[in-house]
Amino acid sequence: MDSVTKRYPDGTVAVDGLSLEIPDRTITVLVGPSGCGKTTTLRMINRMVEPSEGTILVDGVDVQKQPVNTLRRSMGYVIQNAGLFQHRTIADNIATVPRLLGWSKQKARARAEELMERVGLDASLAKRYPYQLSGGQQQRVGVARALAADPPVLLMDEPFSAVDPVVRKGLQEELLRIQGELGKTIIFVTHDIDEAIRLGTKVAVMRAGGRLAQFAEPAELLSA
Ligand code: ADP
Ligand code: ADP
Repeated sequence: MDSVTKRYPDGTVAVDGLSLEIPDRTITVLVGPSGCGKTTTLRMINRMVEPSEGTILVDGVDVQKQPVNTLRRSMGYVIQNAGLFQHRTIADNIATVPRLLGWSKQKARARAEELMERVGLDASLAKRYPYQLSGGQQQRVGVARALAADPPVLLMDEPFSAVDPVVRKGLQEELLRIQGELGKTIIFVTHDIDEAIRLGTKVAVMRAGGRLAQFAEPAELLSA
């Protein structure tokens, strides 16, 4: 991201001159207080929000210069409370994107089963509906769904904030394991500095007004 600013139509400056180089195949955490522009930053990367100024390159390509569908297919997206389709089973939730991409039912189903195992969900949950799962299980489904088409990038917006601390710790450990196994580039938003330090290879600390305060490895942050 090079000198990226987002000014919403009402004049709010959500992000102000942000420049960041996010390393490949690691977890970069955006951390800071509520309202400091973390979600806006994440959403500019997949163009759910368009920047007012500045440039965002992904793998050297300007996101503004590629079709939005191509861009979004390369980025899984996970939000707080998972955002699952309530009227679809767990397996169908996970298979959503593969089915949209034209995979056969059988192939998409096999992919869903494989991913459930990867994120630590028992196969017996495949035919259940989201409301029949715990919050932590729903977040695992959200991660599995985001991984379904094997995108190189995962954008995660406070994905574990709504679950209790013990479950959250389990989810964080799973995410570190999955990242290590699959080598995804993960951009992870949280307001929790402990979570940032636990997960981040690098941590971007944002402050009110959408400015970058620090961009460093966790150990350097602690000594600062
Ligand atoms: P964070 O994710 O750090 O909580 P956000 O990116 O959601 O921050 O919001 C940054 C700032 O932009 C906040 O002041 C917020 O109220 C404002 N904001 C977010 N979305 C909009 C919008 N659609 N229109 C106007 N202001 C917005
Ligand atoms: P619109 O066509 O109205 O602009 P959007 O493209 O912003 O709609 O998104 C429509 C819905 O899809 C929203 O609920 C949004 O959260 C979701 N969405 C957008 N981009 C992604 C993505 N890359 N991965 C998963 N869900 C997405």
